[in-house]
Amino acid sequence: MSDLTIGAIYMFLFFFGTIIGSFLNVVILRSEKDQEIVRTPSHCDYCGAKLRIWENIPLFSYIFLRGRCSHCKKKISILNPASEFFVGILFVLVFWRFLQIPFFNSAFVNCDIFQICANFLPLALWLIYVALLFLISIYDIRNLVVLDGFLMVGFFVSLVGEGLLFLINKYQSIAFFDFYHNWLGSASFFFPAIPGIFSNILGLIIGFMFIKIIVWFTKGRAMGDGDPYIAGFIGFILGTPAVFAFLFLSFIIGGIACFVLMSTGKKKFKQYVAFGPYLALGGLLTFLYGEAIFQAYFNLMLIK
Ligand SMILES: [Zn+2]
Repeated sequence: MSDLTIGAIYMFLFFFGTIIGSFLNVVILRSEKDQEIVRTPSHCDYCGAKLRIWENIPLFSYIFLRGRCSHCKKKISILNPASEFFVGILFVLVFWRFLQIPFFNSAFVNCDIFQICANFLPLALWLIYVALLFLISIYDIRNLVVLDGFLMVGFFVSLVGEGLLFLINKYQSIAFFDFYHNWLGSASFFFPAIPGIFSNILGLIIGFMFIKIIVWFTKGRAMGDGDPYIAGFIGFILGTPAVFAFLFLSFIIGGIACFVLMSTGKKKFKQYVAFGPYLALGGLLTFLYGEAIFQAYFNLMLIK
């Protein structure tokens, strides 16, 4: 792909991400209030005034309206523009990560339509994965509840999607797919290569069981019932060995965050802290920077 095409895709994905972020924000707020998610028209939370089209543009409307409803002048929640911006950035990062994978570009250079479609499928899957993890995390932080309905959507989409990739590659080999799932790159040197979907299934079992055992041992005090399912889902989409890196990072991030929350007095010891967002963050970091983080870690530990 030329630099111009890549730039255009980045721009498109950012704006597409802000629209999805805006929608996810609506899903979060309406799930909390038990409202119809799709059929309720966009409205102001205070006065109920319906939003006109120009008041409903992600990011821009918030800036034009200076953060206030044009009708009742009440402040619009900062969660709106924040989630729009954040999901936009997430979508840009996902595409950036895919550009690091060898052979992702070559299909475009050769103008092979089948290969182009096949290359876009994992990208589309990961956009859905990060959007769902964002949704589940924000809801978990606000309500200390895992939205299991959306987690089930994640399991379904990932099972169908990753299964499809495995089948496509089995019948028509795609060079890019041999590097997809290798999120740890050179840092996964001491693990044997596990082919395709088996790497996902093993990741699911390891992620789920690891957190499930902690829930058993701590009798649910350290983590909630939904957390093993989140870990299982992330283990499935990352595959093995990245699942180990993901669990390791999640505990480090969770540990640091708990220490900060407790030492600043925001949370007391034994007070429930949502662990789902740390799992999501650990999974995202493994996907984006796993190779660099673990290469640095091994160098520090003098493991070659
Ligand atoms: Zn209003």
